[in-house]
Amino acid sequence: MGEPVALDHLAKLYPGGSRALDDVSLTVDPGTFLVLLGPSGSGKTTLLRCVAGIERATSGRITIGSVVVADDKIHFPPERRDLSMVFQDYGLWPHLVARDNVAFASRRHRISRDAARRAAEEMLERVGLAGLAHRYPSELSGGEQQRVSLARALVGQTGLVLCDEPLSNLDADLRDRMRVEISSLIRASGATTIYITHDQSEAFALADRIGVLEKGRLVQMGSPEDIYTNPVTPFVARFTGLAGELPVRICDAGSNDTVRVEMSTRSARGSLHARTSPGCLDVSAGLLMIRPTAISLAGPEGNGHHLVGTVSDVAFRGRGYEHAVELHEGTRLSGIFSEQRVGRGDTVGLRLDTGGCLVFPDRGAGTTVVLDRAPTA
Ligand code: ADP
Ligand code: MG
Repeated sequence: MGEPVALDHLAKLYPGGSRALDDVSLTVDPGTFLVLLGPSGSGKTTLLRCVAGIERATSGRITIGSVVVADDKIHFPPERRDLSMVFQDYGLWPHLVARDNVAFASRRHRISRDAARRAAEEMLERVGLAGLAHRYPSELSGGEQQRVSLARALVGQTGLVLCDEPLSNLDADLRDRMRVEISSLIRASGATTIYITHDQSEAFALADRIGVLEKGRLVQMGSPEDIYTNPVTPFVARFTGLAGELPVRICDAGSNDTVRVEMSTRSARGSLHARTSPGCLDVSAGLLMIRPTAISLAGPEGNGHHLVGTVSDVAFRGRGYEHAVELHEGTRLSGIFSEQRVGRGDTVGLRLDTGGCLVFPDRGAGTTVVLDRAPTA
């Protein structure tokens, strides 16, 4: 059912010189839900439009199933690519009612008008719009229009579904509900999915595989767990959620791919073992990147904590509280979860867990680091 997809050395240079895609190669296994994650301007929409055939790549090859749909010589139009799309702004025909918008996508199956309408009505029922088939898009809410657009993508039973930030125009609570529905309906269809978003929590919630785009380049591809645990660059680490980062001095190698580091802040208490990335042991200056999940709050006195700071914000999150803590020189660590509420202005100790602390070489800092330690006298 789901088609495999392969991109080989895909590049897109827009007139005027902006390099929207730079040598992107990836494969998607049949039936896999791939999320491409990247900030605005990283090339997500360009990539999706090239796969869809709406945009022509400057170079490279696109294969869907066993068919090369684009290379130096070939450029299949969208309707010959066995795929469907869900757009951010829904992309419905304003002059057609919901049912006909959906039925339109059955055209290519060469079925009768009646059969297409029946299929459309069934699909609208599956996306929860049974009673609204006769409404025009202007008579539907944003969430309902996106459901119509999802029904249209699914009724065609294509082997590949492409989604361009389909949730970003919806309200927060609706976004969560639609995310679950999109995920379960597309997965039930068996189609391969390429879904793009700038929202890391959406990406982690949806994906079988995540690819991270930065300035038109695919910088990492892996399972959500792999991307979260082993980001390959500071950019990927930042873009997938940090409590904060601190300059450190890299001291010596520890066991199991760890290094001992000293944090260059007066708030630090002793050294810490953190996970290494390639090149860490060649330099003495590093950047410690801390996942929110790696920090726990402790009393300000006593042993075992690595940092001391002042609570600057606390937010109730239902299951507990999220704290922001300010260190001596104004560095802020945020998203620190605790079941207990610690008040604003209170002094706290922070314990850091090696598993969620990653060190990257800080090449910009050169090799000299001044340790800004509290005077001991
Ligand atoms: P994203 O979807 O990740 O926000 P886009 O693929 O829309 O990124 O854009 C990638 C880059 O290509 C951006 O720098 C953007 O300004 C540029 N770009 C996009 N479309 C065009 C176009 N039609 N002409 C020129 N530059 C474009
Ligand atoms: Mg975009």
